[in-house]
Amino acid sequence: MVNTRTANLKPKDSLQSSLNRVRYSAINKIISASQDSLNGHALHELFEGLMLQVCDAYDLPPETIFCVTYDSTSRRNSQHMTICAAAGQLRQFVDKPLSTLNDTALELKLQQTIKAKKTLFTEDSVYLYLSDFRYEMVLVIMLALKPSEPLLKMCAGLLNAICHGYNNIANYIDLHSAAYLDFLTKLPNRNEFIKSLNVPNYSSAPEGLNVLLVDLNHFSDVNDALGQSTGDMLLRAVVKRIQSSMSTEIKIGRVGADVFGIIGPKKEVHPDQLNLIFATPFRAGQYSLHVSVNMGGCFIDGEYDNGADIFRRCDLALNRAKKNTAKNYYWYSFEMEQKTLWRIELIRRLADAFNRREIEVWFQPQVNIQTRKICGVETLLRWRDSGQFISPTQFISAAEYSGLIIELGGWVFKEALRTAVMLQAQGFENISIAINVSIIQLRSKAFVNQVEDLLAQSSVIPSMIEIEVTESVAMDEPEMTIACLNQLKALGLRVAIDDFGTGFSSLNYLQKMPLDRIKIDKQFVAEYQTGKTVHIVEMIISLAKKLNLNTVAEGVEKEAQVQMLKEAGCDQVQGFYFARPMPLSDLFLYLKSQFPHQTTVKKLGKPVS
Ligand code: C2E
Ligand code: CA
Ligand code: CA
Repeated sequence: MVNTRTANLKPKDSLQSSLNRVRYSAINKIISASQDSLNGHALHELFEGLMLQVCDAYDLPPETIFCVTYDSTSRRNSQHMTICAAAGQLRQFVDKPLSTLNDTALELKLQQTIKAKKTLFTEDSVYLYLSDFRYEMVLVIMLALKPSEPLLKMCAGLLNAICHGYNNIANYIDLHSAAYLDFLTKLPNRNEFIKSLNVPNYSSAPEGLNVLLVDLNHFSDVNDALGQSTGDMLLRAVVKRIQSSMSTEIKIGRVGADVFGIIGPKKEVHPDQLNLIFATPFRAGQYSLHVSVNMGGCFIDGEYDNGADIFRRCDLALNRAKKNTAKNYYWYSFEMEQKTLWRIELIRRLADAFNRREIEVWFQPQVNIQTRKICGVETLLRWRDSGQFISPTQFISAAEYSGLIIELGGWVFKEALRTAVMLQAQGFENISIAINVSIIQLRSKAFVNQVEDLLAQSSVIPSMIEIEVTESVAMDEPEMTIACLNQLKALGLRVAIDDFGTGFSSLNYLQKMPLDRIKIDKQFVAEYQTGKTVHIVEMIISLAKKLNLNTVAEGVEKEAQVQMLKEAGCDQVQGFYFARPMPLSDLFLYLKSQFPHQTTVKKLGKPVS
């Protein structure tokens, strides 16, 4: 048990000032100690040092002073008081419950002090009490005689320093948690997960580990439709199910709003296992929700040492999985990376080409099926790369992915207006111009304003310009598309739905879209001679008529197709049979060949700068 003995109550000469120094520099030492060591080891040493100095100054045995803490933020009772600073033989009890000292009288006195919330003086000891927002602490001074004022002051300073030290550690831990833990699930966040990939723990699986990213599908729908608190409950339920279905060897992190990262042995961290985990619905409050996932993963065996690289590989595989409907997971492969590199290179070359004006707008005539005369053109982009033309099917998605489509699309619009002005000037004012617009443009808040500005700067009649939106795109985000198309219609433009028949239109949305015409996809035209397709084309045309819309069939390559489309009541046709896409200069030649007597050359309208 703790020894007490009569003390020399005067400090050794010259020590007072050095102890003061100790007291005032203690906070700094403690702060740096708390940064050094989160387990408090360095801090304990520092406190031990301070206690030894005080005891030495007063010729006291090192066990005379020790400190006990009672976490006032927890509900633990005083029996759970902990020794938080001590020296000499008591040092071994630091971080242990007070009860390990086996001193009931001492425990009682401490409980009494905590309860009274003030310092207690007894015959053989003093219980200095201190409380702050986080801790209640008692510094016990075991002395037969009443300690002198200076000793008491020094002990009070020591208690202050200990309290500050513990607070610093606690603050540091709080900050660390905020920076590295996800608040909702208490799982490591993205940064922490990536950090742990820097030093994977192979002890449970020396042959290697699997890393898997699991992305919940349509999670934002849950938030939108059922509220964020249901979304939160769902996330917690998912984490709970994953944790309870897997061994403690696996490590989980929340690496995105609805994406979890999992590291662990190969047989456990496997898409088949995860698919089983997600096979049954989750309970989130009053709802039972089915959750489907996409997964992307890679295998690591110590060759990779960079967490960010491993994560990126999983992310590549996940993106591939998201695009594929046949299966919901992909493992990373080198070929995947090469494809990405190829796309990055394509984007770079495309941006360069655009800046050097190596991209051109070409025009494909649209023909009135009755008169077989040109009545409009569709603008189509062409990229001349080292003398070879690259089709937009190859580069439009790269332009969309990089955002370049906004600039590119704006430029196409300008070129279309410039062409319309020239057509007007040549007397072809009835030739409409169709422009393909990407979903990225529709989503962009600036798009409608940009179109409005360009129209204002030009003398073109807006109804001669037609916006083409692909059916699948329109149906992906129908509300947004309808809102944007309404704004464009309000500017006087016409609207066509492109590749119709491929995007599984919802009739409900279709009738809400402010459309002028439907473009029948070339796939149906190509298969027109065969069985069922005839009915599909006829159905599309009769649907268009009921909705009071014009129809244009694209991809027309044969006279037989023209005949059948005419019989079915189609209004216009577009395809190689009539003309391939061509540069502007060729378009004028084509127009002249169609209308040899057209001689009117009007005054040029206001061109778009
Ligand atoms: P799209 O809007 O469906 O354009 C029609 C495509 O069919 C064009 O391909 C055209 O060359 C091709 N085509 C025309 N007639 C025939 C035919 O008789 N037979 C066959 N087999 N094909 C025919 P292209 O020029 O390669 O363009 C492909 C796609 O790229 C376009 O499909 C459109 O979605 C996109 N695109 C082209 N220019 C632009 C643009 O300025 N902006 C945006 N966002 N997309 C564009
Ligand atoms: Ca089109
Ligand atoms: Ca089309």
